[in-house]
Amino acid sequence: MKSQHCVLRKRKTRFVELFRTTPTNTVCPNFFVLRHAAGCSFSPHCAYCYLKASFWYLDRPHVFTNVTMMLDDVRRWIQRDALESYILNMGNLSDSLVFESVRPILPRLIEVFREEAERPGRPHSLLLVTKGGRRDCQSLLKLPACRNVMVSFSVNNPDAARQYEQGAAPVPDRLDAARRLKASGWRIRIRIDPIIAGYDYDWISDHVRKLAPERVTLGTLRAEASLPRYVAKDLFTALVKPRSGKGLARYPIKKRLALYRRALKHLRPVCPVGLCEETPDVWKALRLNADAKPCNCGC
Ligand code: SF4
Repeated sequence: MKSQHCVLRKRKTRFVELFRTTPTNTVCPNFFVLRHAAGCSFSPHCAYCYLKASFWYLDRPHVFTNVTMMLDDVRRWIQRDALESYILNMGNLSDSLVFESVRPILPRLIEVFREEAERPGRPHSLLLVTKGGRRDCQSLLKLPACRNVMVSFSVNNPDAARQYEQGAAPVPDRLDAARRLKASGWRIRIRIDPIIAGYDYDWISDHVRKLAPERVTLGTLRAEASLPRYVAKDLFTALVKPRSGKGLARYPIKKRLALYRRALKHLRPVCPVGLCEETPDVWKALRLNADAKPCNCGC
């Protein structure tokens, strides 16, 4: 379900910025962020959404309307060489697709990547990140696929999603949208994140295996220090507090390893698998390639 109470306004600062991932003891690639909006219109917001600790105005997300300036910034970024990353992530500060009905940009944005990156063979790529379903993907489904655009769907156990991701599309709808886009030639990545202890992840892992995306990222429930005060109920009570204030509260390492191993049984043979905001010891214990960092946010 979507809330239409967003604030439409012009952005005064740059749209494209480098994001260096934090906390620094995690194995995460850096990437560029397209700051096309601040907030998300899924209502209610996901229970664990980290934007709750970032934007006091989350109930009225800000959506930036100076699209020509945005596209000029993107064109300039595509012309740059020797970058730390060639990924432009459109989902770090918002779901990438939820504002298409109030401020449509995808057809023009993808055309920029087609003309300026795909055609001349440049590596710069756009990453769309969504918990949307078929309706949210309508405009994408009408466009021809572009090699320099990836669509990353976040999925979960359907019961966990009904409980904690109430505003987003139902999980079968997300999978259906992913399948249709893949069949049309779009590059599809999947995140199973956050894995929540007490739910079974065999069903969703098996569906992701059948979908055969180009990459999968797994993440377990986590929270930065400032988040729990915005989250009702007892979602975070099983997490262990970090040693430093800049770390993340997480499940104990044994529990995380068990949750990851269960999903990896289905997914390891299918495609490269990465972990979201995990520590090097966990990558090593699971025999995952921390040097390659094959995450959804990576090149
Ligand atoms: S879809 Fe993403 S950005 Fe939107 S409420 Fe859920 S976690 Fe937050």
